[in-house]
Amino acid sequence: MNVLVINSGSSSIKYQLINMETEASLCSGLVERIGEPVGKLTHKTHPDTDAEKKIALNEAFADHVAGMKRVVDLITDSTDGVIKDKSEIYAIGHRVLLGGEKITKSIKIDEWAKDVIREYFPLGPLHNPANLAGIEVAEELFPGVPSVGVFDTEFHQTMPQKAFLYPLPYSMYEDLQVRRYGFHGTSHRYVTKQAAKFLGKPVDELNIITCHLGNGCSMCAIKNGKCVDTTMGLTPLEGLMMGTRCGDIDPAIVPFVMEKTGISAAEMDTVMNKQSGLKGICGMNDMRDIHAARLEGNEKAQLAFDMMSYRIKKYVGAFMAVVGEVDAVVFTAGIGENDEHMRAAVCQDMEHLGLFIDLEENNTRRGVARSISKGGKVDILIIPTNEELEIAQATVEVLKG
Ligand code: AMP
Repeated sequence: MNVLVINSGSSSIKYQLINMETEASLCSGLVERIGEPVGKLTHKTHPDTDAEKKIALNEAFADHVAGMKRVVDLITDSTDGVIKDKSEIYAIGHRVLLGGEKITKSIKIDEWAKDVIREYFPLGPLHNPANLAGIEVAEELFPGVPSVGVFDTEFHQTMPQKAFLYPLPYSMYEDLQVRRYGFHGTSHRYVTKQAAKFLGKPVDELNIITCHLGNGCSMCAIKNGKCVDTTMGLTPLEGLMMGTRCGDIDPAIVPFVMEKTGISAAEMDTVMNKQSGLKGICGMNDMRDIHAARLEGNEKAQLAFDMMSYRIKKYVGAFMAVVGEVDAVVFTAGIGENDEHMRAAVCQDMEHLGLFIDLEENNTRRGVARSISKGGKVDILIIPTNEELEIAQATVEVLKG
């Protein structure tokens, strides 16, 4: 049984076809620059195996349907294809950013679900319209194949009111749905299940702090397998310092800077989302570049690294207070899985809280779930995330009831 996972962006489609019996990825890829004179399609069959084959195409894709049609051609190609025809696709799982309070679980897509995704366009202006476009493409190209929406916000719907409300006038929550929703839910849920397996504990007895540290960064406080708090808020801007996003700042900075510089709300939004975080401090947002620069004595690169690790550490402490007895702190995503410097900086001098990092084990890179703790009350785990597999599994669960 194969599930096609689609993550549709405003001018891109990321996809992966997964064999659910083996959990292997049959192919994956990315269509970019949809609607531009020359688009790009990067396709891999049997990714990350000895049989991996890469295909790169530069051609125009007028719209998402055209891009996806080309993907279907590649998937079903008589020489390089991985399935014979579309009938071998059991279902399609769509990553959707925001389901708000109306969609709290993965759901088979119907007209109501599409209306809810539409209703939340104002809160997820970049993602929800693009995600809906992906659903409509699937309906057009795969008639009769069920689509399931898997929402980034689902996992955080168990947060109590005291955690998800902002101390703003209550009417802003009632009238404008201004509250904390949290994001990266698919990743936090996947690594929670994997951590339970790794520690040999039932998920509903698991108390952990998950750190999804990639280009976007968020953390989650998980008690008895359920999210009780997270760092992201109404939008993915709140919380940790990220590649280009500022994370937590004094909200009074926003009107102050706007008044002083005369920039508009939209420009201020761009500054906070695209020109801040690591990039705002040192001009670079790829952690590998930042390490190279700080080794050469670049002080701004060192500062950016120190600020990011400090803010993660601060939230680890806060979430330990929230969760109580913590089984493990879990690192995942690009930085969390691959950056031994970041993990070491976050876990340094945390022995009084029960975290003892094994620096030797921390320095080995194996790409599999593992502990990097040398004892202590709180384990330290690296768990590679797999959001596509989580979406595919959720898709099958929904359809099988
Ligand atoms: P993601 O959004 O999960 O794909 O993660 C992207 C981030 O992971 C980028 O900031 C990369 O610099 C970072 N990253 C990937 N590999 C490494 C590595 N080996 N060391 C440090 N950072 C890495």
